[in-house]
Amino acid sequence: MSKAKKILVSCSEANHFCDKGQYKESTFWEKVRLNIHLIYCKACRKYSSNNGKLTKLVKNPKVISITPSDKEAMKKKLQQKMMD
Ligand SMILES: [Zn+2]
Repeated sequence: MSKAKKILVSCSEANHFCDKGQYKESTFWEKVRLNIHLIYCKACRKYSSNNGKLTKLVKNPKVISITPSDKEAMKKKLQQKMMD
């Protein structure tokens, strides 16, 4: 799991990225990791939906230039890493 640790963040980290995102302080990579976290974490999706600005950020493809196919590719990579 050590390799996956860089991609998979804990809920508290995800929430931290979420808060940083509100002030536009989060990096692209933090946004990516937050989004990956939101794919599988229902609790944080709820948290982020309570955070209006972040919801906008997540839904705005211009802010996070990640296409659905990229997301799928990332998901697959993530699953591979989890199997390591
Ligand atoms: Zn979470």
